[in-house]
Amino acid sequence: MDCLFCKIIKKELPAEIIYEDNNAVVFKDIYPKAPIHFLIVSKKHIASVNDLKPEDKELMSELFLVAQKVARENNLNGYKLHINVGREGGQLVEHLHMHLLSGKPMEMP
Ligand code: 5GP
Ligand code: ZN
Repeated sequence: MDCLFCKIIKKELPAEIIYEDNNAVVFKDIYPKAPIHFLIVSKKHIASVNDLKPEDKELMSELFLVAQKVARENNLNGYKLHINVGREGGQLVEHLHMHLLSGKPMEMP
């Protein structure tokens, strides 16, 4: 499958990976939009939140725990978790991921 994040997960493409376990990988965004910008990515290829199935429930909860873990490891007191869904929602890479942004005052949106 021609998926950028699947290739990063398989180490076929380079990325600055800061965390990895059986179900998730976290790497630095190549075009950071904040002083800290990590991408929390499921190893399973799911195109978007719109494609989640009931059996992905546990995986999604795990991604939040991974966010908490990398935030603690990087001594982040506050951060924003952000998921774009679909092209009109600003999603460019069609492989489920959560943005973790920190290091400057985080305002909406
Ligand atoms: P999306 O818009 O799909 O929610 O977010 C995709 C993110 O992936 C963007 O913030 C973009 O900067 C990042 N990105 C795109 N290509 C690469 C890449 O090759 N390596 C890394 N580390 N990040 C990428
Ligand atoms: Zn993929």
